[in-house]
Amino acid sequence: MSSKVDTITDQLIENNRDYAAGRGAHRPQHPGKQPIRPARRVAVVACMDARLAVEDLLGLQTGEAHIIRNAGGVVAEDTIRSLVISHHLLHTREIVLVHHTRCGMLAFTDDLLKAGLEGDPAASALLSKATDRDFVPAGRSSSSPASFFAFRGAIEPLDREHGQEAQQRLEWDVRRSISAIVDHPWIPTSGPDAVSVRGFVYDVDTGLLSEVSYPGPKGSFG
Ligand SMILES: [Zn+2]
Repeated sequence: MSSKVDTITDQLIENNRDYAAGRGAHRPQHPGKQPIRPARRVAVVACMDARLAVEDLLGLQTGEAHIIRNAGGVVAEDTIRSLVISHHLLHTREIVLVHHTRCGMLAFTDDLLKAGLEGDPAASALLSKATDRDFVPAGRSSSSPASFFAFRGAIEPLDREHGQEAQQRLEWDVRRSISAIVDHPWIPTSGPDAVSVRGFVYDVDTGLLSEVSYPGPKGSFG
């Protein structure tokens, strides 16, 4: 018998293979009275993309995990806020990051979106073309949000078929997100209270997760 103890994250990866094969485990019914602490002690940070049904694709039941979602599944200040509460007050010890193929965050830059919103006609035209929607500028500037966290690298058309370049850009951001968590002074990654952090790219076409190595090639963080 193998001495390797599977983590919850490893079990979620197995659930994901079942999901992609048409054998999803998530039960949609109300489970009855449950405790506040997530039963599987997992916190998931995932993109808000409409094609990701997080409980389904990870085979999670109601009450088993915290699920934190935003555009891109990025680790911004508010994500850290939720993760610190999740771990220190509610006992989670594994963090799972889920980025995905054909993400909208590959299709713009922060500067482009800000310029468009402020009323720059060239930026508006580009955004209209990229999104196949008439972009309507707000015509005013704003200091918030300070960042949209668009993925770095050369932008591509919205919802383009997944390719090598996009894969690299997604992996960069997954690694950057892992760094933001493991380097945070309030999230312990060693000692008895340690949290583990693993990152994935979810393929919206196949339903399968693939893990992103950390650190990256030659020790880079992307
Ligand atoms: Zn996305």
